[in-house]
Amino acid sequence: MLITENLLRIFKRKSFPLEKKVVYIAGLGLIGASLALGIKRAHPNVTVLGYNRSEASRTIALERGMVDQVTDDFEAFAPLADIIILALPIKQTKSYLETLAGLNLKDQVLVTDAGSTKAEIVAQAEKVFTDKAVRFVGGHPMAGSHKTGAAAADATLFENAYYIFTPSSLTTGGAMEELKELLSGLGSRFIEIDAAEHDRVTSQISHFPHILASTLVEQAVAYGEEHEMTRRFAAGGFRDMTRIAESEPGMWTSILLSNPQAILERIEDFKDRLDQVAETIQADNEEAIWSFFHEGRKHRKEMQIHQRAGRDSAYDLFIDVPDKEGVILEILQIVQGISLVNIHINEENREDIHGIL
Ligand code: NAD
Repeated sequence: MLITENLLRIFKRKSFPLEKKVVYIAGLGLIGASLALGIKRAHPNVTVLGYNRSEASRTIALERGMVDQVTDDFEAFAPLADIIILALPIKQTKSYLETLAGLNLKDQVLVTDAGSTKAEIVAQAEKVFTDKAVRFVGGHPMAGSHKTGAAAADATLFENAYYIFTPSSLTTGGAMEELKELLSGLGSRFIEIDAAEHDRVTSQISHFPHILASTLVEQAVAYGEEHEMTRRFAAGGFRDMTRIAESEPGMWTSILLSNPQAILERIEDFKDRLDQVAETIQADNEEAIWSFFHEGRKHRKEMQIHQRAGRDSAYDLFIDVPDKEGVILEILQIVQGISLVNIHINEENREDIHGIL
């Protein structure tokens, strides 16, 4: 009996093409609105409904055709949706999952999210959707910026980037395939990983580096009060190490609060490593210090870090140019036809960089 019911459900879904489905995106910020653009790009006929708290992003999303209809009442559109995407801060994502569980949603509705940490969100979904006819897939599109709101939305934001899915006991009935098809217009590289493992890995490669970047900035600011040239000389390596300190504070607060264990572990590990470096300096151990930098250089060269999302899609090119009129224009003509991410003039401190442009 159960098997027959399940087959019927699958049959119902298959006979119901994606183009006929209603997608509901809650949170038309940078991520939600960029997802809407990507969905519309591949599936122009899919109906996309949007929820946003503030009017500004609602108006932009509607006027730019990212969504077909908008609401400021989260609960209003949820019962109409076949697929619901929560693109909200982590705390609100958890709370809105609970709200969804209390609504009269469509049978086998597919719910996903975009939160930067996954274990707490997946645990919440498993708790509130137990015994409900709801499918859930945790999601984390690994691209973004410090910009916020629908005004910053970009259809190419997720191109070539990893889009991580964290399947769970609620990822049933073809949920993964359906979602991948819906998001095919993003040009992302889909990958599946356990939620807890996602949080451990991102604590190392993303969360801890953000803490380190902000700490470095704070340390330099404090030091600069007594040594005023600190600020002026800060360039090159310092700039590369601290760029991410300009990230959006609200988002990073929620990331740290929703992945405390893994992050605290990384902080302790790093303290030990710094102590080891200090010991080699105290011991005047030239060989150990050389080896420390040698290993770092060797391992960084081996990492996939020079590739964008694991692909050879971006290259750094440093050029020494004479300080004469028209030289930048001359170079731009040479590189015409190449997609440029950025051009930067290294004006002052070029200690760690060979090249002016
Ligand atoms: P954003 O600030 O651009 O958008 C946040 C959205 O949440 C807005 O629509 C806002 O109106 C809504 N919102 C905020 N507080 C709310 C509340 N209390 N009630 C109802 N709505 C509320 O942020 P974003 O960058 O789009 O981030 C959305 C999610 O995507 C977050 O969970 C974030 O962790 C994740 N994410 C962000 C990035 C990034 O780099 N920006 C990358 C990957 C994942």
